[in-house]
Amino acid sequence: MTKPPDRLYLLYHELRPSRSDYSYIVETSQFEKHVDLFLELRKRQPPGFYPEITFDDGHLSNFEFALPILQSRSVMAWFFITTGWTGQRPGYMGWPELRELQQAGQQIGAHGWSHALLTHCDPSQLQKELVQARLTLEDKLGTSITTMSLPGGRSNQRVLAACRDAGYTQVFTSGPKAEPQPAGATVGRLNIRGDMTLEWIAKLFQPESGVLSSLQRQHQIKSTVKTLLGDKLYEKLWALLNRQEPDTDAGEAAANEDTAHYQ
Ligand SMILES: [Zn+2]
Repeated sequence: MTKPPDRLYLLYHELRPSRSDYSYIVETSQFEKHVDLFLELRKRQPPGFYPEITFDDGHLSNFEFALPILQSRSVMAWFFITTGWTGQRPGYMGWPELRELQQAGQQIGAHGWSHALLTHCDPSQLQKELVQARLTLEDKLGTSITTMSLPGGRSNQRVLAACRDAGYTQVFTSGPKAEPQPAGATVGRLNIRGDMTLEWIAKLFQPESGVLSSLQRQHQIKSTVKTLLGDKLYEKLWALLNRQEPDTDAGEAAANEDTAHYQ
């Protein structure tokens, strides 16, 4: 039996119908082209990396714009939800939207309770971010929740152990990495930016292009710099360099972004 191809999990956040300078946002028509490309790549012989789609934060645009595109092509994606924002924070999905996503066959996972960086949480905060987030999703959606994506991609051994103790069997990170199948307890992902071209994205899936391995090297260097500078200073510098909209997700972008040219 031939070995299944390694999977490359992609990370999206918000979609918008019009173009945005904010690198965190992908234009809806671009996303549609991405999904069509992924469908082609999944059939390609010999296979490259196999694309999988994930969304973090639970933005309302996931429901309004991404779901119809996915449904019309019978594509399943993962949606990681900041549970405490659900039905509370303008611009984010409420329980009716999440139920509809789930009934449409999409996968729901947790993304913490308040989007706090888990590495900064004490044990009682971790309990809320991990356990209360999971139990509330399970209660409201009537399904078991076993996957978690790390806010801001931040993790350490203590956080990963707390995720396991809280009942998560898979934790999705923000480190760009192709995953052998079946995927293990941590799953790497690559953040998709609005300024990445379709051609560049297609190259990501060809292991021989070296694009993914070069992103991995940059990610490792940045993680080291971040550890040396500390989160706060690193995020300020990153926002300055990337025309970041002032938003709570600046930290997440800082964890995910690479300074390469995506063209
Ligand atoms: Zn997030």
